[in-house]
Amino acid sequence: MKVERQMIPVEKNKEYTIKIESVTNEGMGVGHIDGFAVFVPNSVREDELKILIVKVNKGYAFGKITEIVSGSPYRVKSPCGVSDKCGGCNLMHIDYNEQLKIKSSIINDCLMRLGGQKDYEFAGIIGMENPYHYRNKLIFPFGTDKNNSPVCGFFAERSHRVIPLTSCLLGDDLHEFVLSEVLSHAKKHNISVYNEENHTGILRRVFIRQGFSKDEAMVVISVNSDGFKKENELGEKLLTNKKIVSVILNINTKKTNLVLGDKNRTIAGKDTISDILCGFEYEISPHSFFQVNPIQTEKLYNTAIEFADLKETDRVLDLYCGIGTISLLCSKYAKEVVGVEIVPQAIEDAKKNALENKVDNAKFLCGAAEDVVPKLLENNEKPNVVILDPPRKGSDEVTLSAIVNAQPEKIVYVSCNPATLARDVKYLTENGYTLNKVKGCDMFPHTTHVECCVLLCHI
Ligand code: SAH
Repeated sequence: MKVERQMIPVEKNKEYTIKIESVTNEGMGVGHIDGFAVFVPNSVREDELKILIVKVNKGYAFGKITEIVSGSPYRVKSPCGVSDKCGGCNLMHIDYNEQLKIKSSIINDCLMRLGGQKDYEFAGIIGMENPYHYRNKLIFPFGTDKNNSPVCGFFAERSHRVIPLTSCLLGDDLHEFVLSEVLSHAKKHNISVYNEENHTGILRRVFIRQGFSKDEAMVVISVNSDGFKKENELGEKLLTNKKIVSVILNINTKKTNLVLGDKNRTIAGKDTISDILCGFEYEISPHSFFQVNPIQTEKLYNTAIEFADLKETDRVLDLYCGIGTISLLCSKYAKEVVGVEIVPQAIEDAKKNALENKVDNAKFLCGAAEDVVPKLLENNEKPNVVILDPPRKGSDEVTLSAIVNAQPEKIVYVSCNPATLARDVKYLTENGYTLNKVKGCDMFPHTTHVECCVLLCHI
């Protein structure tokens, strides 16, 4: 029912009390005032709150907490001092088990409401034993403080204002060392900070990537120039920390939000770092896609393998394969694997990774899935199992219809966005498949992002 303007029961800048009923997939609590939905950031199911209405739209409003009248049993004190301002973690004030319940509901809600599914097995969500310090990659933008002195930190929610900090509970102790060295070098040599609005200044971002299993780290400094003063001195200084094996300058002189420009120059140590995932070793360069939570990635990939239940005679098609991490794992159990990926550098890495790991039954093709898959499936012997792991926007009907025409026995869909997963599952279940099993995997604790893996079988 549409709520008429004159019937809207809340007014901007007025205070109300509200009980929070649930948390949305954007991490905001939601409750109702006289049947009218009000979204409240930093709230939890069962919170009783006093709120100030800050914005009123036609069908819903937004409020800000002014007082917690009675805190929910699922509310915890956030261990991070800036989590209510930083755009990174919007669930840190919620007990971790409750976070997992929220994510399970997000997955099931999407599959049921958007995907029209009901008869499937939900096999739960895999949480982390220690949901901190899990990220192997963090990016810190530069900004300036009141005195125009350089700072590093994270962007505030929905803005590009930098909240200064030198460490993050999702990252490693190493960050403190790196950021303090980079900032003191910038101050000592008067190196300016990049200004997004007028595209001036030099230092854009510090990007730190780690290979946890080998304890190797790479520091990439992205700059709006082709170098900076005494860059080698900074590189050597960073290498004094024994975890750091690679310091790279990334040249990004375009007016863009992209973190990295096309050109890299190694200023100290090696060009790449390596890491081991599910027993295979990977070389990682600054531009390669590599999952950010290696502990959970292994669990996610093993779920995909469990769902695929591969036999020695199986031919597998691994779409959106990145540097071939799922493909190489499948190669252990199947007859052959073909990986398809749009980024040429990733395909080069995938081929190199197969060679270095002595895998001889995996082949990689470079191109967009929607271009490659229809031709491939028309000409080649058909796969028995198709695995898809697309980016957030999901797959597309050209690719999906080529897959259903080839009629593989099983489709295993790995997704980082339950909404586009639900859309694609709807298409597949309308075209000869049934949704059999669904399992979530919490790759991003304290944020609303959730990964999941589903199994579809040919009817
Ligand atoms: N399976 C890999 C990568 C998953 S991320 C892993 O787990 O590491 C999704 C991948 O899809 C990215 O590598 C991205 O470059 C690729 N991609 C995006 N659009 C694509 C398209 N249209 N066709 C093929 N690959 C695509």
